[in-house]
Amino acid sequence: MKKNVCILGSTGSVGRASLEVIHNLRSRFYTFALSCHKQVKILEQQVDKFKPKYVCITDTESAKKFIPRKGITLLTGKLGLCTLASHPDIDILINALVGTDGVYPTLEAIRNKKRIAMANKETLVAYGKIIMKELAKCRGGVTTPLLIPVDSEHSAIHQCLDLNRSPVKRIILTASGGPFLHKNITSRTTCEQALRHPVWQMGKKITIDSATLMNKGFEVIEASVLFKISPKYIEVVIHPQSIIHSAVEFVDGSIIAQLSLPDMRLPIQYALTYPERVPSLIKPLHFDQIKKLEFLKPDLKKFPCLKLAYEAAEKGGTMPCVLNAANEVAVQSFLRKEIRLTDISELVEEIMGKHLIVKSPKISDIEAADLWARRETKRMIQNGSW
Ligand code: MG
Repeated sequence: MKKNVCILGSTGSVGRASLEVIHNLRSRFYTFALSCHKQVKILEQQVDKFKPKYVCITDTESAKKFIPRKGITLLTGKLGLCTLASHPDIDILINALVGTDGVYPTLEAIRNKKRIAMANKETLVAYGKIIMKELAKCRGGVTTPLLIPVDSEHSAIHQCLDLNRSPVKRIILTASGGPFLHKNITSRTTCEQALRHPVWQMGKKITIDSATLMNKGFEVIEASVLFKISPKYIEVVIHPQSIIHSAVEFVDGSIIAQLSLPDMRLPIQYALTYPERVPSLIKPLHFDQIKKLEFLKPDLKKFPCLKLAYEAAEKGGTMPCVLNAANEVAVQSFLRKEIRLTDISELVEEIMGKHLIVKSPKISDIEAADLWARRETKRMIQNGSW
C-alpha cells in the first residue's frame, strides 16, 4: 500500500525537492496534501501534476486566488495546517515550513502518531525540548510517532547513530562556511553578496543565516535537542566542499561520517524510507574526482552569531527561542536594507542580554518570549538604539 504524504511548505526549496523524491518513488508514496503560504501559482502547478486530495493556503488573501479543482478540498489559515497534520489518512508529514508557527502542526502530527520528516528548523530551535517531550509521551502502542531530521547535517548524524548505539564522545557538525569564508564582512557588505551561497540553493532567510553562521548555530541547538547531547560536545568544523555532512565520534575514538554530493533529495528520501534504503536521484560520489577535503576551525570573531547560539544552547529554557526571534526580525530588516549585516549579531546579543530566561518553559512561556523578543528587536531597529 502506498503511504500518504502531506508536505507543509511545498513551494519552498525543501518542498520542491520533496516532490521530486516522491515523484521518483511514486510506487511507494502518494502526495495526499500540499500547502503553501502565498505562492499560489507554483502550488497550482504542483496540484495539477500530483493530484492531491487537500491543499492548504495559510495566507487567507492568497487563498482567494486559488482556482477550485474537482476532488480537491481547500483549507486556509494556520488551522488548516493542523487539520492536515492530524488527518487520519496521512502517514507521513514533511514539515518544510519556515518559522516557529510550525510547532502546532508538528505537535498535532506527534499526537496522531505520524512519521514526521522535519525540515522546520526554527521550530526545533525554539520548541525542541517540548517536541521531544511530546514524542516520548506519545511513544508506544501499535503505531508510534517518529521524527526524522531532514537538515543534511542532522540526517547525517542520525545515519551515523543508527549504525551504532554506543556512547558518543563528540558530534562533529560540518559547515560550508558560507559566502564570507575567505572574504571580509564589513559595514558595507551588501545583501546581494550575502545571498550568494557557494553550495546550497535555498530561501533568502536561511541563506542569510548561512552567511552569518547563525544557521550553523541553530543546527548546534537542534543537534543538542534531537540527540540529547550537551552543546559542549558538539564541534562545528568548516568543510567548504560539503561532502562530509557530519560525523560522530564514539567513546573508543572511532569516527563515523556520512558522505555524499550535496543534494537535499538524499536526506528527504532517507526520512521517508527509513530504516530502508532505496535507489535515489542523487549523483554518485566518485572518490577519485574529489580534489581535496578541507577542514577549518570557525572564526568566532568574524561570525559572532555562532558564539551567541552556543550561549543560547548552554543557557537553554526560553533563550534559544529569543535568539531565533531576534535573529528573524533582524534578518528581515537586513533583507529590506534597513540595517547592515553586522547589525544582526549586535541586535541579537542585546536582546539576549535583556531576556529573563524561563528555565523549564511551557509552550505559553515560549510564545510569550517569542513575542517579546520580536517586539523588542523591532523597537530597537526603529529607534536605531543598540
Ligand atoms: Mg543544514
